[in-house]
Amino acid sequence: MSATPKIYINGKYYDKPDAKISVYDHGLLYGDGVFEGIRIYNGTAFKLKEHVERLFESARSIKLEVPIAQPEMVKAINDTIAINNKRDGYIRPVVTRGAGSLGLDPRKCADPQVIIIVDDITMYPAELYETGMEIATVATIRNHPNATNPRIKSLNYLNNILAKIEGIQAGCLESLMLNHKGEIAECSGDNIFLVKHGVLRTPPIDAGILEGITRNTVIGLAKKAEITVEEIALTRHDVFVADECFLTGTAAEIIPVTKCDARTIGAGKPGPITRQLREAYHQLVRE
Ligand code: PMP
Repeated sequence: MSATPKIYINGKYYDKPDAKISVYDHGLLYGDGVFEGIRIYNGTAFKLKEHVERLFESARSIKLEVPIAQPEMVKAINDTIAINNKRDGYIRPVVTRGAGSLGLDPRKCADPQVIIIVDDITMYPAELYETGMEIATVATIRNHPNATNPRIKSLNYLNNILAKIEGIQAGCLESLMLNHKGEIAECSGDNIFLVKHGVLRTPPIDAGILEGITRNTVIGLAKKAEITVEEIALTRHDVFVADECFLTGTAAEIIPVTKCDARTIGAGKPGPITRQLREAYHQLVRE
């Protein structure tokens, strides 16, 4: 990677210190915008089509017109990886509503901003992939799907940040969030999976979660390995009695969870299905 990252804004590249947008941008003023997080493995953006599709669906859901079409977005992302000469890392495409007045009305924002940042990847500490991590259920519930639908990957991440703060206060790097019905939803930035009697279980999309691309990839890998997968409503009881638990996310990949709310899950170490799926995932990203 070149010493100073080159950041894409609306078709032009800027050195990191010069990459700036207006303080009137509603992305800043109201969290009005959408984003994605994509991994670069060996110079290639992993599941790029899926991420770009989700970005455009998030935008459509908030009635934000992305100023470039999907194929142009794919090209802009690939060009930004190339110009930064990045082999392994992380890409953050962002589309903001653009600069407007101090009122909410998005019609006053004539110029949505397309930003693409390519940077290094921050993962959980390596030893947690061997020992398993500890999570805590937090009091802040996931946004009600009829308020701000968690399916929208919007710039308004305060719900997740509040959960993250509570997790950190409980001494955990990730926080388990319930939904408005008291069921397991997802973590602040990762989806959750349980294993019980050899069956892989994860909350359905209508539990009010982000439809994680890693989640979908892992479901596909499990099915291929003839592991039964159930997308089913789950409670904390299911976590406490699970044989195995793991989280999925673009940055985290697959990380084992061995403790929740100070209780040991299963045998207290990463289980065989978690390890099998981690191996299959690593093979897939290397391909
Ligand atoms: N849930 C939330 C709230 C997220 O922000 C993310 C992405 N960090 C995920 C789940 C995992 O999604 P993906 O696998 O697409 O990265």
